[in-house]
Parts: sequence; C-alpha cells; structure tokens
Amino acid sequence: MLSIVATPIGNLGDITLRAIETLKNCDAIVCEDTRVTGNLLKQLQIEKKELISLHGYSNPGKVGAVIERLKRGQRLALVSDAGTPGISDPGFTLVSKARDADIAMEVVPGPSAFLAALSGSGLPINTFVYLGFLPLKKGRKTLLASLRNEERTIVLYESVHRIERTLLEVADALKDQPDRPVVIGRELTKMHEEFVRTTIGELSGVAMPLVKKGEFVIVVGGRG
Ligand code: SAM
Repeated sequence: MLSIVATPIGNLGDITLRAIETLKNCDAIVCEDTRVTGNLLKQLQIEKKELISLHGYSNPGKVGAVIERLKRGQRLALVSDAGTPGISDPGFTLVSKARDADIAMEVVPGPSAFLAALSGSGLPINTFVYLGFLPLKKGRKTLLASLRNEERTIVLYESVHRIERTLLEVADALKDQPDRPVVIGRELTKMHEEFVRTTIGELSGVAMPLVKKGEFVIVVGGRG
C-alpha cells in the first residue's frame, strides 16, 4: 500500500490525525529531503522510521526499488518537504508507476499553499487555473502573454529569489488591464502570514517594497 500524505506548509498544527497515524504505522517514508522529514517526525514524536530519499533528480532505478518494496507488501508513505506531494514537488513519477503496477494506494489529503492562498484571496475561486512556478526561460513570455485572455483566477508559485522579477513581469504582461486584482499570499499559516491586495496597475509599486523573505503565492484575478 502506498499512502500519499500531505504535510503542513509551515504550521505543525495543520497535520491531520490520519497523516500522523499513517506516518506512525508505515514501514518506511519516501521523502524529498531526509532532514526536513526527519525534523517533522521528531516534532510528531515518531521515532526510528526508515526514510527513503526520492527527489526530482533521483534515478529511475530508485523508483523501481520502491515499487518492488510495495509489490512485496510493504506499507510506504510518500511525503514532500511541505504540502501535498506532486504539487510543484516530486511524487508524480512514483504515483504514476505505482498505478501502472496496480499497487493499492490511498490519499491522505491536507495542506497545499495554493489552496490556502486561493481560499484567503477574496477572489472568485469556483474555477481557477493553477500554473505552479512559471518556466524560467523557454515558454515564459508566451505563458505570461496568455494570461491576458484568461478569464479564470490564476494562481502561481514563486520563490523569494524571483518574486520581484515575476511580479514585475506579470505587471508588464497585463499592463493594458490595470484593474485586474492581484493578491500576494506570503508565509501562509506561519507567524508572519500576510495577504497583500493590489491591482495590476499598482503591482510594480508593491513589488519593490514587498518584504522579500519567506514563501509566496501570487493570485491574479481573471480577465473581466
Ligand atoms: N507541495 C507544496 C504545496 O502543496 O503547496 C508546494 C511546494 S513548492 C516546491 C514550494 C512553493 O510553494 C514556494 O516557493 C511557494 O511558492 C509555495 N509555498 C509553500 N509554502 C508556502 C507558504 N507557507 N506560504 C506561501 N507560499 C508557500
């Protein structure tokens, strides 16, 4: 059995009862960074659990070895460093190969940064488009240009290193639609959580003085 387990995005209190039970009772945990997951387990007082590191750059043989263990009947849990595995995080290859191999699976849902940002944004979220991190080079301009005609609320991830650049580029790509709302969710669920509400027209003025620390989700209202 493979359990896909979501973990907190910054606030330990967001771990679910099922997540704790699953992490406690599994034979081993497939994770990204063993130090990050080791730290979570320590906080949950789960001791002596085998951790198998599987990140974006792991070779296919490693995924195969995990599938073999599942076939032998082991109970493994899949987590990422934070939030929901597979959402702009590793996990897809293992889940896909486990499906191909007809392995029993369950999901243990929980936090994800884009859901937290959308739900607190105040923008319409019955339909939305999740774009994750914008591509760094190839396709970036085209994707940014395509946002002009997007009628649904758009949600993007960005790291602290590129937040200013991305906000400025979004502002530039949509400059002929200055009234579109933008909400920046920073440090969600953590002590310094904040939602900065602005518009495309004001965005470059906001991007500069924005506290450039922590983690960010950008939510852009759709074309009216
Ligand atoms: N799997 C995660 C999820 O379900 O949200 C996403 C992992 S992705 C590698 C990391 C990005 O998620 C960050 O760069 C940021 O854009 C966003 N993120 C994660 N935690 C966040 C938080 N507490 N506040 C705001 N954004 C966050």
